[in-house]
Amino acid sequence: MEEICNKCGLPKNLCVCQDIAKESQKIKIRWDARRFGKVVTSIRGLEKDVDLEALTKELKRNLACGGTIKGNEIILQGKHVKKVKEILMKQGFKEELIDAQDR
Ligand SMILES: [Zn+2]
Repeated sequence: MEEICNKCGLPKNLCVCQDIAKESQKIKIRWDARRFGKVVTSIRGLEKDVDLEALTKELKRNLACGGTIKGNEIILQGKHVKKVKEILMKQGFKEELIDAQDR
């Protein structure tokens, strides 16, 4: 008997659940000037099953900056859009799903 995905009910070879999950893991990286000229970089779109604390730690370590988690959003101090994208790709996120705007 063919194996059936218990999420979508389709045979495993036709199942698109994983693709859909990856699609929803679209990440947005933006920078923003806050009050008093303070610049922050925000990373949005990460799902709950991503270990945000570990990822934030990794980002802070690589960028040598401060950062916090606010809900599902990671906020880093300073402008790091390109570097954040590189780090996320090293962490296994797909380049085409990372929407980075460096302006
Ligand atoms: Zn499925």
